[in-house]
Amino acid sequence: MGNGLSEGVAGQEGPGLSAVALRVHYPAVRTTVHRTTTQGETAVPGSAKTILQTSLHNLQQSAERLDLDPSMRERLARPRERTEISINPLLPDGRVVNLPAYVVLHNDALGPAKGGIRMTPDVTLDDVTGLAMEMTWKTSLVGVPFGGGKSAVQFDPGASDPRAKETIIRSFTRAALRHIGPEVYVPAPDMGTNEADMAHIRDCIAYSASASITRGCYVTGKPVILGGILGRREATGKGVVYTIRAACERLGLSPVDLRVAVQGFGNVGSVAALEIAACGARIVGVADLTGGIAAPVGIDVHDLGEHVRRTGGVRGFPGATAVDAREILEVDCDVLIPAAAGSQITEANAERIKARIVAEGANAPTTPEADEVLKRRGVLVIPDILCNAGGVFVSYLEYTQETQREQMPRQEVERRLEERMRDRLKLVWDATAEKGLTMRETAMDIAVGRVVEAILARGLLP
Ligand code: NAD
Repeated sequence: MGNGLSEGVAGQEGPGLSAVALRVHYPAVRTTVHRTTTQGETAVPGSAKTILQTSLHNLQQSAERLDLDPSMRERLARPRERTEISINPLLPDGRVVNLPAYVVLHNDALGPAKGGIRMTPDVTLDDVTGLAMEMTWKTSLVGVPFGGGKSAVQFDPGASDPRAKETIIRSFTRAALRHIGPEVYVPAPDMGTNEADMAHIRDCIAYSASASITRGCYVTGKPVILGGILGRREATGKGVVYTIRAACERLGLSPVDLRVAVQGFGNVGSVAALEIAACGARIVGVADLTGGIAAPVGIDVHDLGEHVRRTGGVRGFPGATAVDAREILEVDCDVLIPAAAGSQITEANAERIKARIVAEGANAPTTPEADEVLKRRGVLVIPDILCNAGGVFVSYLEYTQETQREQMPRQEVERRLEERMRDRLKLVWDATAEKGLTMRETAMDIAVGRVVEAILARGLLP
């Protein structure tokens, strides 16, 4: 069937970068400074690809299409810095815990590394490396002057009290301080972290400098009272819905006809569900770590939000049928929004996905094998580096706001977010229709192409 663009608009301006332009001479230089160890070799044979393996696969495919020089491929495949840190916070209950933490700065050709801090019990250094690479392509595609980075603490925040989490975040910030800064790496919230954590990071850095404020923006996604921007918390989820709506307009679908399933009901999933329900769509299934719920007649997302605040998860929501959390990916729906962990749509379940559109709110939710299946079945995948780029776009607005010290009005933030998401969707859609690729392939080619262009423009000598 192909790329799922049955009514694509062809003939618009493409990525503005031909493969020929990239076939410039790039001397083969052996890289010796990188602290890279594994490159995604850790998955058990036969199991789903890891996030890093998926990221490397997508890069490799794009490098082929763009005909990149081998040493440029190697340069893009390796992070500039890949650091493991051991932190040892003293928790309020008197325990000292030893936690692994990671910081990966993948590429800074377009600007300082940007990317969230993940706090989950099973995150690995390889995951963080793959996610940092994703950020390089995402910032490039959405057109903000940042590179790609990511960091993480291996800890389950759901199982701890807020004071313990604050201690851990402060401990991480102190240990990782030399990697963080407005010109180096600017973190933001990701899975398991939120604006309260960003406030503690900001406070910890200002405290270390014996100052009330920091020079420039060290972290985004802060509370508004501390220099955060209005609308950052909702930006990723809203951005997901802007891309879905723009794609539906091109496919001749109206939001009121859409049945939507959402995996993950945290920051991204809950906002995306609320936003698309506000457009008239019906939410027919939701899952989180507590389980899944399905209701073909529709779920009231406001009531579900209340239920989650009260009980800690979607399980037990009145009026819906309990289903296995993974089954949510396979429920009968028109749009599936994976908004939880990576590597969820795999060769094991891709054949059973019923959605016509998969809108990747999560990072790297689809493995390359599943991508092939979805492509063959004509499912339109709005790729993560486009679909969930709203968060980093509004983080960029927060970054610029920090130096001006003047609050940008919410309406202005939302207008610019919608405009940018629609513009990028159009750019990718048109090039996809023209080239007969998938949206992921086109998005990757535009993003990787811009990073290569920046590397070459900066020059090859130190
Ligand atoms: P979050 O911690 O706020 O919420 C995560 C949600 O996913 C929770 O409801 C959790 O219960 C659920 N979940 C986790 N594992 C699951 C599983 N295996 N099955 C079902 N549900 C599961 O995280 P978030 O900030 O909403 O991030 C979600 C995804 O979106 C991540 O992949 C993240 O990298 C990506 N993302 C987040 C942002 C952002 O601004 N927060 C920006 C871009 C991308």
